[in-house]
Amino acid sequence: MTVAMILNEKGRDVVTARASDPVGEICRTLSEKRIGAIVVTGPAGQIEGIVSERDVVRVIGKEGPAALEQPVGDVMTRTVVTCSEGDTVNSVMARMSAGRFRHMPVVSGGKLTGLVSIGDIVKHRIAQIEREADQMRDYIA
Ligand code: AMP
Repeated sequence: MTVAMILNEKGRDVVTARASDPVGEICRTLSEKRIGAIVVTGPAGQIEGIVSERDVVRVIGKEGPAALEQPVGDVMTRTVVTCSEGDTVNSVMARMSAGRFRHMPVVSGGKLTGLVSIGDIVKHRIAQIEREADQMRDYIA
């Protein structure tokens, strides 16, 4: 099972922001879109960072409401681990687990073509395990 199979089902739209956007706006977008992370891109669409709800909670916990005025560029993670559409879901799961993060932007041909979350991966793993169990039951019967 590959990352492309997940994107074919969930779509390839990615919510992005600019490094100059204030943290308050990031909170609004995370809440309105019901997502856990936003990819920060530059003028040419290149990935500059990723900001997740964890980063927002950390900075507000440390600095209080004043943090909402800060540009997201100050709180995002700059070294972003990405995957490609041809990567297996198992390899992405292993990298998320090793890096202790739950989101991974997908880059194909140098362009951002999607984002997979741990939720997407769990959903597909469960579907795969159920299919395999059905096949095993049919085989035994
Ligand atoms: P998450 O578990 O995705 O909410 O993120 C936990 C921490 O890892 C936050 O500081 C994020 O900015 C960071 N993070 C999330 N996704 C990635 C990624 N693909 N590469 C690097 N860091 C990430």
